Amino acid sequence: MRILVTGGAGYVGSHCVRELLAAGHEVTVYDNLSRGHAAAVPSGLLVEGELSDERRIASTLTERRIDAVMHFAAFALVGESVAEPHLYYGNNVLGSFHLIEAMRTPGVSKLVLSSTTATYGTPEKMPIAETTPQQPINPYGFSKLVVERMLDDYAHAYGLGFAALRYFNAAGASPVGDLGEDHDPESHLIPIVLQVALGQRAKIMIFGDDYPTPDGTCIRDYVHVLDLAAAHLAALDRLTPGRGIKCNLGTGRGYSVKQVIDACRQITGHAIPAETAPRRPGDPPELVADARLARELLGWTPQYETIESIVETAWAWHRSHPQGYATKA
Ligand code: UDP
Repeated sequence: MRILVTGGAGYVGSHCVRELLAAGHEVTVYDNLSRGHAAAVPSGLLVEGELSDERRIASTLTERRIDAVMHFAAFALVGESVAEPHLYYGNNVLGSFHLIEAMRTPGVSKLVLSSTTATYGTPEKMPIAETTPQQPINPYGFSKLVVERMLDDYAHAYGLGFAALRYFNAAGASPVGDLGEDHDPESHLIPIVLQVALGQRAKIMIFGDDYPTPDGTCIRDYVHVLDLAAAHLAALDRLTPGRGIKCNLGTGRGYSVKQVIDACRQITGHAIPAETAPRRPGDPPELVADARLARELLGWTPQYETIESIVETAWAWHRSHPQGYATKA
């Protein structure tokens, strides 16, 4: 198929582009490079453009005879969404609206959306199944929920076939070693812990050790970025006109912040000093997926089952790219 990948220069998008190419698809990346990296996109695939530019998207879809869209382009930081909600309503909600409107003109009717566990808010019952009510507690989660609802309505009214894949904590890197996580500033746990191992930071701050969890630190379900990519490819094969697939992408296993730090110590061989800091506002104590529906609907089983296997690939990337994509070859 000919696939347009919005946000294909970003972390999850770039890994997905690689898997799409490996599976024989033709790929066009549509990205404004505001947070992505041109170096993460194979040469010749990038169209630099804005989601707000509906005409540009429509002409790209037509000229390249696109069959389906994978939509990664979005902002995805909870804290930032609280401080700067306009970015989230503008880019995530309006941006997605322009995209699906642009798709209507040439009749492109297949879309895979990156959605998020943040659409659930702070459910009390673990693990989180798709039947758990979606009650987001921050603008990021709400912006993605709005997009999911738009897609529902477009499916019903215009025959769109879509999948909304609700990621838990994306982590890891391509084992090839040339694609990985590179955010500026970095706020995610595993990259920050590995930056401590590299000597780029003095210590890791543990945001709260008084949560109602066995060791007092927050529990998350870390899922490898290549497993996420595999789920997107599986979803692409199963898109049905007028219908939406919605499923969680997680391993079903939870690891606490302390367990993640320990895994990083073990993999890197570095001591990695840690210090307890106050809780980070908006962090639920535990987020773990009930991942059965993805197995059932997509035939998807994560290949990276343990935190160690995920950290190993992240460490290979960070060690060889201490400055991310800016690292000189
Ligand atoms: N975390 C931490 N110190 C850090 C960064 C993150 O203790 O420097 C914790 C954070 O509070 C959360 C977990 O690590 O419980 C995962 O956070 P991350 O930002 O990676 O992903 P999120 O769960 O927010 O999507």
